[in-house]
Amino acid sequence: MTRSFDAIIALGSNMGDKIGALGRATALLEAHGEIDVLNRSNLYRTDAWGEEDQDWFVNACLGVATTLSPLELLHFCQDIENELGRVREKRWGPRVIDLDVLVYKDIAQSDAELTLPHPRITERAFVLVPLNDIAPKLVIKGKAVCAWVQEIDTSGILELDPFKTSEKAK
Ligand code: ADP
Ligand code: MG
Repeated sequence: MTRSFDAIIALGSNMGDKIGALGRATALLEAHGEIDVLNRSNLYRTDAWGEEDQDWFVNACLGVATTLSPLELLHFCQDIENELGRVREKRWGPRVIDLDVLVYKDIAQSDAELTLPHPRITERAFVLVPLNDIAPKLVIKGKAVCAWVQEIDTSGILELDPFKTSEKAK
């Protein structure tokens, strides 16, 4: 399959200026000499998942071209999380920014640091809906993203209007 991106990164934030955090993370990715941000999904307001007693999230996905290795890309994403002030407390708890590598070319691997494709894509509407904007035909676990998204409950996912969100979504 030919496709324009090498990797897809999922972004999420549920603390402070959520949209601003996604914007800063995207700018830091773009500023890296070995990463080109090729396409961006819409922004979505999504209900918290896992630990549900926390604020709603803003989620999005980016398609990138990169000459970094998968692990280098993950480490750069973690540098961005640290730079934007993420404190690692409880798993699935509130975070200023979360960057996950969803896929990297056709690589399938699972080790202590990096699993590809990201293991929980198909059970998370907040990942599938933005992913469907930029890669509907991408096949995950034998099925296209556009098919997975038909099968999942997307009721907690709301597309944000980029012209209104700067006021509303803080
Ligand atoms: P989560 O994103 O699941 O809420 P974290 O962001 O705290 O949780 O990530 C926990 C660990 O997941 C990281 O230390 C990282 O090494 C590991 N990990 C494994 N595969 C991936 C992936 N594809 N993308 C991002 N992190 C991953
Ligand atoms: Mg993460």
